[in-house]
Amino acid sequence: MFELPPLLLALAFILVGVAAWFLGRRNGAARTVRLPRDYYVGLDHLINDRIDHAAEIFARMAEADGDAAEIQFALGSLFRRRGEVDRAISIHSRLRDHGGPGTRDKAAFALALDYQSAGLMDRAERVFEELAASGEYRHAALDHLVAIYETQGDWAKALKVFNELPGAVQLERGRVAAHYLCELAEQALLQGESERARTLLKQARVHQPALPRADILTARLTERAGDAAGALALYLHALEVSPGLALEIIPSVLSIARATGHADTLGELGRRLRDSGRLTPRQLAWLLATAVPPAEMAHLPGITADLGVGLASAAEANSLSALLSRIGDAGGRYQCDDCGLNSVGWYWRCPKCRTWDSMRPAVFKWAERTDHAVRAS
Ligand SMILES: [Zn+2]
Repeated sequence: MFELPPLLLALAFILVGVAAWFLGRRNGAARTVRLPRDYYVGLDHLINDRIDHAAEIFARMAEADGDAAEIQFALGSLFRRRGEVDRAISIHSRLRDHGGPGTRDKAAFALALDYQSAGLMDRAERVFEELAASGEYRHAALDHLVAIYETQGDWAKALKVFNELPGAVQLERGRVAAHYLCELAEQALLQGESERARTLLKQARVHQPALPRADILTARLTERAGDAAGALALYLHALEVSPGLALEIIPSVLSIARATGHADTLGELGRRLRDSGRLTPRQLAWLLATAVPPAEMAHLPGITADLGVGLASAAEANSLSALLSRIGDAGGRYQCDDCGLNSVGWYWRCPKCRTWDSMRPAVFKWAERTDHAVRAS
């Protein structure tokens, strides 16, 4: 995450080399005067992507001059990038344990990154925790700790570290803290602790007042408390605010409607989605075709006609629905807006790019593409 791009790495070597050359001239020491030649050869290898040769030369330079900490840091980072984490760990451990006071924290941070890329999370966590106590690397260490706890799904710890971040960063990332609290609320809900779940959702809204996920969880709590009409209203409101959650919400809405004998729920769903103004007609029609259960498919043409987004007949609705499920089964029902990952299941945070609230029904994109194609023809 904190890797240097090759060009920057090369620049670092240029600076180190020039500094060494000046030092060598001032001290008149033959040993340091030799450094620039080695360094130019190493740099040539580096620029021409002969990383093995470059690493060898820089290792020799670092060995010849025990004080050349910067060269060793660059070397350690080079080894980590090549996946030779053992060698990176040994360089950074040595710098942390024997380096001067100015290099110890920097070496510890680099060491934690080595552990992280080697998958030694408990060790990375320990070093980051030490660095997070104080000093120059505090903020960066907290960021890495949050990322580790997110990956492990340890939301309580992620939230604890979040609360140690600077106030401005907390404000900027309020939505993320709200998601941690929603995760904890979901766990409470699973354990039957409704009161605790309510408290956590209240805390979540302090970080982010408009929070569709909290709306859905509140609807589930309301449903569990036996207030079907209240739950239905909450689900419909969540749908209106966040049509992207339709595939998650529609089954719950239809199940309440079936249980309570509520009529025309599908029509109501469609109107809410249309009036949200966030979907094209085709997106709306295709979304309904994806979400409506086969037993109710016969009603779909009538509903879409009322909405003005027509599917001509029940046969057309059926074949569209079959087509969409086939595409969905092959590629996934959801797609990440940020990195394009397709997934069969729903995630609040994309497992690939780790962005929150970036998954959307894949049918939105397919419909958009068709809309473009229709417009272009
Ligand atoms: Zn993504």
